[in-house]
Amino acid sequence: MKDCLFCKIIAGEIPSKKVYEDEDTYAFYDINPQAPVHVLVVSKKHTPDVAHNGEMNDHELAACLRTCAKVADQLGVAKDGFRIVNNCGDNACQSVKHLHFHVLGGEKLSERMA
Ligand code: 5GP
Ligand code: ZN
Repeated sequence: MKDCLFCKIIAGEIPSKKVYEDEDTYAFYDINPQAPVHVLVVSKKHTPDVAHNGEMNDHELAACLRTCAKVADQLGVAKDGFRIVNNCGDNACQSVKHLHFHVLGGEKLSERMA
């Protein structure tokens, strides 16, 4: 989608540090990490958020979670545990309106999630 930051990253028009890619998803390091491991998993198909996912089929939606698990395994945080975060909408402070999941790990994370 034109003027979407993550669509531009997926297309390679804006550089990113790639962690993993398959036909449905793209994973790269967050530019402002909030944990020792902080990766963004984005759907290749543009859709604004989980509440507006009509463009996506079940396989494409599930692929996002599968990629989160693969990334955690690949980066060595699966054994000790990790967190997947999805911000949806303004109250959740979603800043990029392209469906994405944060994979956070590499240390003991806060018990508080909100
Ligand atoms: P949100 O707040 O929408 O859930 O998450 C957006 C995330 O994108 C933020 O954690 C922010 O640091 C990250 N981000 C914003 N711009 C860029 C960028 O140009 N490159 C990368 N790698 N991450 C970005
Ligand atoms: Zn997009």
